[in-house]
Amino acid sequence: MNSVIDITGLHKRYGRRTAVHSLDMHVKPGTVYGLIGPNGAGKTTTLRTLVDVIRPTSGAVRVLGEDPRHGGARLRRRIGYVPGELRLEGRITGHRMLSFYAGVSGPVARGYTAELAERLGVDLSRPVRSLSKGNKQKLGLIQAFMHRPELLILDEPTSGLDPLVQRVFLTMVREARDAGQTVLLSSHVLSEIQQTADEVAVLANGRIVADGDVSSLRLGSVRRVRAGIEQADAAQARAVLENVPGVEGLELTASDGAVRLSATVEGGIDPLVKALARFTVQDLTIEEPDLEESVLRLYGNETTTRSHEDEGDAR
Ligand code: ATP
Repeated sequence: MNSVIDITGLHKRYGRRTAVHSLDMHVKPGTVYGLIGPNGAGKTTTLRTLVDVIRPTSGAVRVLGEDPRHGGARLRRRIGYVPGELRLEGRITGHRMLSFYAGVSGPVARGYTAELAERLGVDLSRPVRSLSKGNKQKLGLIQAFMHRPELLILDEPTSGLDPLVQRVFLTMVREARDAGQTVLLSSHVLSEIQQTADEVAVLANGRIVADGDVSSLRLGSVRRVRAGIEQADAAQARAVLENVPGVEGLELTASDGAVRLSATVEGGIDPLVKALARFTVQDLTIEEPDLEESVLRLYGNETTTRSHEDEGDAR
């Protein structure tokens, strides 16, 4: 079957700044596709072209077999969209707002809005403008999911949600996929993509630097390690630690006979732990992978090489 989303050679320029460069992306029906990348990578720009909020400078975009520029209300009814910067104001209640959207998006099964509100934990009888950021975001999610659209386009959908509600949301995404809906989800949080996406594209500086299934991209393999060690000076510590496999960006600061260190580690941390064991270890923290660090570490060369090529092309 054809792709639900087909993006070919998408280019978007804002004045002299190119936000998205020659992007190709294809999303298969009934899958969850994660678009992941650091702030400013071009995720929002890409998603906005799919719902015709902005138009490409060049390239072709097809959504559910149609060009979003010509699909109009009929195409929009087949899509549930959560924008990256959701602004909800007004005196009307959540109920009123959602019934207005139901009028636009098409039929909503009886009781389904209330069921979603219950699951996400939002009070629909309150005026929208009095809700917290997280509760407004929940309304945004309900309006996207409530008419069970064929395609969900969700831009940073968990922003402002607490961890329990994030879990509910991830379950909703999996249920949507199991029901045959297609989900395109953008995020700069690796864990939510790891938990839901069948396929992922990593975006950096407006380009896809890697794509495939989540595990093949090794994005979770870069961790930050911080430690304090005693009875060592910085030179000794550097001599022992800098050649440990996987360690990069080693920073050492010494004071009062102790050394604090910070480094990124790709792959297993065992060699670093064994090397540290030569010293007296005061404390040790191993942090979850940070997406920005992982992308730079794993794909940094590719993004800079390609930018230089681009500068060359532009001349
Ligand atoms: P974030 O997670 O921070 O929202 P993003 O991956 O969604 O990042 P975009 O919002 O698509 O990234 O932005 C990509 C680039 O385009 C950024 O450098 C941004 O500053 C620029 N940009 C986006 N919108 C505009 C605009 N309307 N005018 C000028 N530049 C823009």
